[in-house]
Amino acid sequence: LAGELKRADELAAVGALSARMAHEIRNPLAAISGSVQLVALREWADEKDKRLFSIILRETDRLDGLLRDFLLYAKPATPAKVPLQLRGLISELSPLLARDPRLERVNIENRVPGHIVVVFDKDQCKQVFWNLIVNGAEAMSGEGRIVIDASVQRGGEADQVRIRVKDNGQGMSESDVNRVFEPFFTTKKGGTGLGLATVYRIVETHGGRIAVSSEAGKGTTMTLFLPG
Ligand code: ADP
Ligand code: MG
Repeated sequence: LAGELKRADELAAVGALSARMAHEIRNPLAAISGSVQLVALREWADEKDKRLFSIILRETDRLDGLLRDFLLYAKPATPAKVPLQLRGLISELSPLLARDPRLERVNIENRVPGHIVVVFDKDQCKQVFWNLIVNGAEAMSGEGRIVIDASVQRGGEADQVRIRVKDNGQGMSESDVNRVFEPFFTTKKGGTGLGLATVYRIVETHGGRIAVSSEAGKGTTMTLFLPG
């Protein structure tokens, strides 16, 4: 047991250190990107220069996004758990979702009954559903459908809420299903592989569970059990 505790301490220390590192890298990165934007405006910059500058900017943006996602994963904020009306919370995502080009032709059906309440940090709850919905949309070639439903499961000690996020995207192979929650596992060009790892971590710190079932060519269902 002492060994296990020591190992857990070590992992926590490495986590804190790499979060600090990610944070430190973001500052000079912002300086690089700001400077390049200014230099690109200079008269002597020709088309070829501008093309190179835009590559620098695109890649600094990508690095910044990666570091931001990594920080969310490695250094999650302490959750402020409050009762949330789930249907309303998911509706609150609509304006954000409507602005995202990945979701342009995706039909999202919020079938969560109005009486369902989960005890969760509000921002982190939004982040969970945002990640799941975007993943569903990215698994589609353009058009598709995401259905979210929920029901209360009466338990011995406490009620649990079962939530399903179901898409009719391309689905996954069995070997991918086994790896989706692994940090940095991605099958996407430009993906970070941190979305579901972060979701898993958030759900875990709220005393919940998440499971995935998927069939290649048919679609994917993410099932969450959250404290009600
Ligand atoms: P990313 O989206 O950056 O790739 P995620 O952690 O969100 O990282 O997802 C990891 C991988 O799991 C994805 O690259 C994809 O292969 C698979 N995946 C996740 N959600 C779905 C889904 N709804 N349908 C099909 N594949 C999915
Ligand atoms: Mg993702």
